[in-house]
Amino acid sequence: MPAQGKSKRKAQKKRTASPQLKHKSSASARPSARPSARPSTARSNSVKVAAQFPKRHDVLFKPERKAYVRRVQSKDALEACVFCGALEAGPSFDSLLVYRDHHAMVVLNKFPYNNGHVLILPTRHVGDLLQLSEAESRSIQALLIKSVAALKDMYSPSGFNIGINLGAAAGAGIPQHLHWHVVPRWSGDTNFFPLLGGTKVVVETLELTYQRLLPYFSA
Ligand SMILES: [Zn+2]
Repeated sequence: MPAQGKSKRKAQKKRTASPQLKHKSSASARPSARPSARPSTARSNSVKVAAQFPKRHDVLFKPERKAYVRRVQSKDALEACVFCGALEAGPSFDSLLVYRDHHAMVVLNKFPYNNGHVLILPTRHVGDLLQLSEAESRSIQALLIKSVAALKDMYSPSGFNIGINLGAAAGAGIPQHLHWHVVPRWSGDTNFFPLLGGTKVVVETLELTYQRLLPYFSA
C-alpha cells in the first residue's frame, strides 16, 4: 500500500541518518577507501546491534563451569549432601562444622574466596528459601551477625560480602541445601590471580582459621 510504503521509506531514511550509526559506518568502511564501496549487509547489521546494546560490560566465559554445575545437579550429588554429612559428623576440623544450634549451623568453606570465608545454613536439608520456618530464619540471622562479629574481631576486614546464590542457575554449588556466604573483604584483595590463573591466594590455612573461629562460638 502506498501510505505504508512511504512511512517505511521514511523510517529507513531516519535510521541511516542517525549520527551514531553514520559515524560508525563511515569509520568501518574507511579502509576500502572507494567512493562506491558500501558496507555489506552483515556489517551494517552488526553495527546496528552494537548501537542497540544497552550497556557495555566485560564478560569472562568459563565453559568448564558447566561440567561442574551438571555434576552437582546429578543424582549422586542429590543423595550425598556435604552439609548434612558435616552435621552428622559433628563439629571438628575434618567436617569443617564450627557450630550448630537447633536450627542453623556455621561451616567453614572448604574452597574459600578469602580468609575467614564461612557459610551459614539451616540444619535441615532444604533448598527453597520460602520453606524456611520463622525459627530457622531467626537462627540463621543470629549466626550471620555472630559470624560477622567474630570475623571482624579476628581479621579487621574493610568490609564483607554476605549473600546467597539461590538455585543452580544463580551459581549455587550445592543448590539443594541453602547456604549464606560470609566473605571478609579488604581493599585491593582482588588481583589478577583468580582471573588469569584460576587460583585465589588465601594466606591463612583452613586449620588455623577453624581454630581461631571456634572460641567465638563456644561461649
Ligand atoms: Zn543437606
